[in-house]
Amino acid sequence: MTASDILDHHQVKKTTPRVALIQAMQEARVPLSENEIKERMGELYDRATFYRSVQTLSSAGIIHRIVADNVMVKYALNNCENGHHHQVDHAHFFCRQCHHLYCLKSIKVQTLDLPSGFVDEEHDLVIRGICDQCNSQLK
Ligand SMILES: [Zn+2]
Ligand SMILES: [Zn+2]
Ligand SMILES: [Zn+2]
Repeated sequence: MTASDILDHHQVKKTTPRVALIQAMQEARVPLSENEIKERMGELYDRATFYRSVQTLSSAGIIHRIVADNVMVKYALNNCENGHHHQVDHAHFFCRQCHHLYCLKSIKVQTLDLPSGFVDEEHDLVIRGICDQCNSQLK
C-alpha cells in the first residue's frame, strides 16, 4: 500500500507532511525516533506539524508509539498491509547498545485480565538488552 492509500483507507486527510512521514517509516521498516524521521523527511520536517501528525496517525490506527526508555520514543507503522491489524499485540525489543528498536511480531502480548472497573487503553511490553546484531559482534 502506498502512503496515500493508507491515509485514504483510514479516512485521514492527505497532507504532504503526513505522506512524507508514512513514507519515511515504510522505507525504514524499523521503528524510528523523531530524529531519525527528521533526517529522512528533510525539508518537510517541522516540529509542530510532526507532533500533530503523530497524534492524528496514531489515533487513526496507522502508527504505534513505543516508549523505548526514559528519553526515547519511537514510532512504527501498524500492519495496514495485512488486513489492517491495529492492535499493538506484539512485544518490542530495545537494544541498549545500538539503540535499535525491534517490533517482535512473533512475540504476542496477551490481553490482560484486569480487575473489574479497570479499562486497558494501552499496554506495552518493551524488553531491553542486547540485540542479535550487537551480540554477534561481541563474540
Ligand atoms: Zn490500517
Ligand atoms: Zn543492537
Ligand atoms: Zn511494534
